[in-house]
Amino acid sequence: MVLLPGVTYCLRRFQPLVQQLARHHWVSHVKRNRLNLPLLGEADDLESFLFETPRQALVLIGAGLRRLTDSRCFYCGLAVQDADVDHFVPFSMYPRNLMHNFVLTHPSCNRSKSDTLAARPHLDRWLEHMTRHDDALREIGEAAGRISDPASSRAVARWGYANAVTSGAQAWLRAGRYEPVDVNYLGCMA
Ligand SMILES: [Zn+2]
Repeated sequence: MVLLPGVTYCLRRFQPLVQQLARHHWVSHVKRNRLNLPLLGEADDLESFLFETPRQALVLIGAGLRRLTDSRCFYCGLAVQDADVDHFVPFSMYPRNLMHNFVLTHPSCNRSKSDTLAARPHLDRWLEHMTRHDDALREIGEAAGRISDPASSRAVARWGYANAVTSGAQAWLRAGRYEPVDVNYLGCMA
């Protein structure tokens, strides 16, 4: 598929709106299918069921990642007390909860990174983390009911960073520090 000039910009610019519309229509689509009614009942939490990670799953993932990383923040490497579970490739960019995309962070590092892509040192560390801890991550994912698909996680990251190169986006290094995403980012995911 080749996008016409300007389309990538518009998709990026209006991404929250597009995502909200897509979710809304997907939820309506699922509800409209009468065969789903006995399964769904009248509960009104379909959107959160489809698109959010249940609290209990996040607790299990957080505990598993703590064991793996000796309770250190994925981004700054310092010890964490209260920890967040962050989507390495931002959820706003790719709203699926693949296990290998979860990392343990300080709430402050998580807030600071927000919905930007992480800079090269983090990307290198994440790729290594996925390979080194593949078995353990799959186990944590299984316990928490999350899908493990590292090949997809890598492909999604490659897609996200390739878009960032095209659109001239910045990647988050640490609080207040960003760097441009250049084409060298893509070499490590070839
Ligand atoms: Zn941190």
